[in-house]
Amino acid sequence: MKINGKTITCGLIGNPVEHTLSPVIHNNLAEKLGTNLVYVPFLVESGELEAAIKGGHALHIRGMNVTVPHKSAVIPYLCGIDPLAESIGAVNTLVYQEDGYKGYNTDMSGLFRAMQTEGIGIKGENVLLLGAGGAARAVAYLCATAGAKKIYLCNRTLQKAEEIAGEIRMQAEGAQIAALSYEEIEGLTETSFLAIQCTSVGLYPNVSDVVLADGPVYDRIHTGVDLIYRPYETQFMKLVKAHGGKTMNGLKMLLYQGIIAYELWNQCDVPEEQADDILQMMKEEMGIYE
Ligand code: NAP
Repeated sequence: MKINGKTITCGLIGNPVEHTLSPVIHNNLAEKLGTNLVYVPFLVESGELEAAIKGGHALHIRGMNVTVPHKSAVIPYLCGIDPLAESIGAVNTLVYQEDGYKGYNTDMSGLFRAMQTEGIGIKGENVLLLGAGGAARAVAYLCATAGAKKIYLCNRTLQKAEEIAGEIRMQAEGAQIAALSYEEIEGLTETSFLAIQCTSVGLYPNVSDVVLADGPVYDRIHTGVDLIYRPYETQFMKLVKAHGGKTMNGLKMLLYQGIIAYELWNQCDVPEEQADDILQMMKEEMGIYE
């Protein structure tokens, strides 16, 4: 790619940022779609967040992705926030406006689009949601607004699950959501679950860890989605598969959150063939050849 006086700059702010796959997504999309755009990672310490946002705006950086630990902390420094991001309480994409940056959350729309491409729906499902951290909160909101029949929010720290369940009930009218411990899962009476693994358990290098121990409940999980993509196949996914279920990891979620951000920055639609090519490139970057 030729960088010149008209090159648009976008980037990622977070800490750490050195292992990010986002430059693979955006720089390859720009090249394939013929956009004069470059995407770079920016390491931003927590105490420097406001300065980074103001500096980015002064430099006319078109858009930024926001990752750990700034997804909620960035909100006070924005000139506006999309209602979905506001409800979730987390922003992962900033879009340049005259008077500052507007914040969006493309993680959830990214997960939804990724699941759609795999033929995994949420409407009418009994969802077993594992975890009650930032990602789980957003996934719970997604499930509540996408028509899940019932959401069981399981977490090691039950109080966090109870807090989120209470918030979701207030935000999504009619949402059927209950907090429970992992020990209580086997006692549920439903016979079929869509399970979404939103904890950090099983993340590289602790690849043999799993938050939900092997047991009869896995026979009732028809599909297991894991937000983790390092390793490519988690222990949770292996167990779901061993019990006859379908699985999906978090790589496509990462891909589509990036694609939706790219679409917001460039006011375009990314064709599905390009999405497939970029997914391939992300896999190659991770050393996955299948
Ligand atoms: P977080 O806010 O730190 O939450 C971590 C969750 O994991 C909490 O529910 C925590 O339970 C649970 N947990 C951690 N260690 C545990 C253990 N030993 N036993 C039981 N539960 C444990 O993290 P997050 O931001 O929600 O992210 C969660 C995962 O999603 C991460 O692996 C992240 O990489 C992944 N993610 C992927 C994407 C993507 O694009 N694919 C996007 C966002 C996040 P307690 O509340 O009891 O501590």
